[in-house]
Amino acid sequence: PKICVVIGASHAGVNFAFALRREGWQGEIILFDSDLELPYHRPPLSKTYLTSDDGIEKNLLKSAESYQRDNISLRLGITVADIDREKKNIVLGDGSLQAYDKLVIATGARPIIPAILGVATAKNLFPLRTASDVSSIRDCMKSGAIKKVVVIGGGYIGLETAASLRKLGADVTVLEREERILSRVTAPEMSVFFQQLHAQHQVDVLTSKNVISIESHNEYNEVICADDTLYRADMIIVGVGIHVNKEIAEKAGLTIQNGIKVDASARTSDEHIYAIGDCTFHHNLHYNRFIRLESVQNAVDQAKVAAAALCNKKPVYDAIPWFWSDQYDVKLQMVGLSQGYNQVLVRRDSENDKSFSVWYFKDAILLAVDAINNAKAYVYGTKFIKGRQKVDQSKLVDLSVEFKPANL
Ligand code: FAD
Repeated sequence: PKICVVIGASHAGVNFAFALRREGWQGEIILFDSDLELPYHRPPLSKTYLTSDDGIEKNLLKSAESYQRDNISLRLGITVADIDREKKNIVLGDGSLQAYDKLVIATGARPIIPAILGVATAKNLFPLRTASDVSSIRDCMKSGAIKKVVVIGGGYIGLETAASLRKLGADVTVLEREERILSRVTAPEMSVFFQQLHAQHQVDVLTSKNVISIESHNEYNEVICADDTLYRADMIIVGVGIHVNKEIAEKAGLTIQNGIKVDASARTSDEHIYAIGDCTFHHNLHYNRFIRLESVQNAVDQAKVAAAALCNKKPVYDAIPWFWSDQYDVKLQMVGLSQGYNQVLVRRDSENDKSFSVWYFKDAILLAVDAINNAKAYVYGTKFIKGRQKVDQSKLVDLSVEFKPANL
């Protein structure tokens, strides 16, 4: 029987391994990860897990017994250093080799630590990607020494972390370099909504704040911006984006383009090597372009496609991207890709301004929907986008028209 080796045991790698068994793979399945913990869910790290006292065992992707039951061998605390495509080996950190017949790269991404002056000597500065990052942040919070926190970066991770640390009692300021938060991914209406939401919870979200240096003193840091403003911080969270873990693929000569390039069955430029999850640059059929996504949905969907492909089926990746974010009592659900929109419509379903939806169109074609505390808008949006169904825009914003697909 053949050996399938997987580099990276997180959302993509773990879902792949179990899917491969379900598809009937008879040979060995070996998962490697440099992390020491049993693989866990990442989305709660900045949300409920950060504010809880739970151990990581409450947050596992699969129980330890599941790996045994499905005969999946999990090798934790091991970094894969190289891929030898000619000999079909991977080289582990200690120089030892592991042979493969099929290889799956699910190496995901790591946080960017910006090259700001003083970043290396800053006190209590953390990214937030791993369970161990959260342990450090929680320990700091428990020490009682943290009053003021500065979050660098107003993206989803920065904002979720700000909300969670506020819940734990910290005095939080978010510094965003762009003119508005979430500017890469949402319409201005959404940026305004989230900025106000944080203000209601006494979190300062400041924009056009380009952090240029950090000065650390005995007990605290000063975070200094290009406009000469200065923010005191006992702890600093960095949430300014990710680097794709593509180096070993690149060294092995696989095609790279903003990520590891894969086809509709998640195969790389080497027919024996697949890549899935955050590390891939893949084709999205619906939007007819190559994209890179940082989402659980994409990791899980590509995992299933790669598993089927390895078992000689002919799957085609054809998913509409979706994503969620939780901040305070607000649940945001997003579906589709809004890039390239030229029209935005907002539907407010109730007096309650914490429930509405933002609809992105390009030349009257629905591209994406952002739904705030509004599961219906998310579900209908998904249906319309998938079906490429035309939406009656005047009815969409007319509150006298009952909100249901048949009326739109
Ligand atoms: P990763 O999760 O990055 O895993 C890659 C794994 O590969 C890691 O465990 C790493 O240790 C390992 N690895 C890398 N290189 C090597 C090597 N050379 N040798 C051995 N091991 C290696 N997505 C959503 O859809 N909704 C959310 O609400 C959401 N919230 C998030 C909140 C936080 C705080 C974070 C960090 C992410 C969030 N995401 C969310 C994104 C989501 O977690 C990622 O899209 C998902 O984890 C991608 O899975 P992956 O398996 O592709 O990569």
